[in-house]
Formats: sequence, structure tokens, C-alpha cells
Amino acid sequence: MRKQIVAGNWKMNNDYVDSEQLVSKLREQYIESETEVIIAPPFTSLLCSSNLLKGSRINVAAQNMHYAENGAYTGEISAGMLKSIGVDTVILGHSERRAYFNETDALLAKKVNAALKNNMRIIFCFGEELSDRKSGNEEAIVEGQIKNALFHLPASAWTNIVLAYEPVWAIGTGETASPEQAQDMHAFIRKTIENKYSSALALDVSILYGGSVKPANAKEIFSKEDVDGGLIGGAALDVSQFTAIINAF
Ligand code: PEP
Repeated sequence: MRKQIVAGNWKMNNDYVDSEQLVSKLREQYIESETEVIIAPPFTSLLCSSNLLKGSRINVAAQNMHYAENGAYTGEISAGMLKSIGVDTVILGHSERRAYFNETDALLAKKVNAALKNNMRIIFCFGEELSDRKSGNEEAIVEGQIKNALFHLPASAWTNIVLAYEPVWAIGTGETASPEQAQDMHAFIRKTIENKYSSALALDVSILYGGSVKPANAKEIFSKEDVDGGLIGGAALDVSQFTAIINAF
């Protein structure tokens, strides 16, 4: 049975003190349910966040990692380092990393391998640009991103993969894909996985939607059959908005 997940990507927001305040408030206001809740603070706030969340059902994820175990990669953080502070989930492939840090499908495949080798769970992001949608290429782009970074994996690896479909044109823009657009793409993604692996595997993969999810639209988007939750950016920085989105399930 696939999980329902709401994950908050803080991006480069919240210093140590802000993070402690936000996490404490979240812990107070969060009502436990079947939905898994994940927050992804910046690296400097991972440890304090997981300490503050000990004993709660909210998990902590990193926003990125390097593919090497260690070595001369100034400024980078490895899977082993994340694991050493108890972080075992990582977001990979976010469109901002693809756009601003030149992360390609080939690089992401290496990061995916490194995360899995370290027994980490991956929230793998992908999605088309507005120009792709306008030219009717959104399915081909999404299929390519998934295939290139993930289809070399054996079926057994997929227990550690969560997918996050995030149309680039909807991220941080206030423009959301309609619930129907999200459902259509999620169904296409599930079919693509079924074609490569099996129907049982495809039915077990959680596929999150990301792109301007807010309390006002979350319920309708989450009600769609193939939408298993959300990856939330801006609204995850506000505890009342984030908890309202969690409660939308
Ligand atoms: C994101 O960055 O993953 C995201 C979905 O951002 P926002 O919710 O702000 O559009």
C-alpha cells in the first residue's frame, strides 16, 4: 500500500534560530495522522530539527547531497554525513538544482545510486518547463527525466523511491496545475513505471505533486486518485499553512 506524504522543502530559508522556532511550533500544532510528514531544512538546521522532532512522527530530509562518499569536493555533503546525523531521506533533482546548479539526468543517476547504496530514501523531483507544456511535450520530457535517472535501478530499489512531479511553471509562481492536469500526469507516470517494471510496483510508488500547493487548493489536488501527497515550498515556511495542507488529507 503506498504512503500518503506531505513534505516541506524549506529551500535556502531559516537560520538555526528560525528553524528551532518553526520546528517547535510545527510539533505543537501538528496532529498525527496516517499521512507521513517530512520537512527538508537547510543543512545547517538538519541536526537541530531532528533533535527537536525526536519521538514525533515528523521526519527530516536533506535537500541535496553529493554522489561521492568523501574527498576533494569543497562545499559538498555526502550521504554518509547525512546518515551520521540520522537523516535518511534526501530530495534529489529539484528543478532549482537542475536550473541553477546544472544538475543533469546523468549526474542525478549517480546521486541516486549513492543514496541507495547508503540505504537512503529519495524524493526524486522532475517536471516540465512551460515551453514543454505549450508545445505538448510534457509527457516526453517527464518520461525522459524518470527513465534517465531511475530506470537502471532494479525493482527492489523502488521501495526507497518517492516521486515528486513538479511542473516548473507552477513552482513558486502561484500558478498551480489544475487537479485534472496533475491527475493526468500522475496516471501517465504510474503507467510509465508499470510498463518498465510491473503493475504491483507502480501501484506501490508514492507520487507527490509540487507547485504552489496552498491550503486553498490542497484538498482538491490530493483527492485525485494518483496524487499521493505534496511537495510544498513556500507554504511549508508557515506552520499554519503547512498544517492546513497536511490536514487536507
Ligand atoms: C518546491 O519548491 O518544491 C515547490 C513546490 O515550491 P512552491 O510550493 O513554493 O511552489
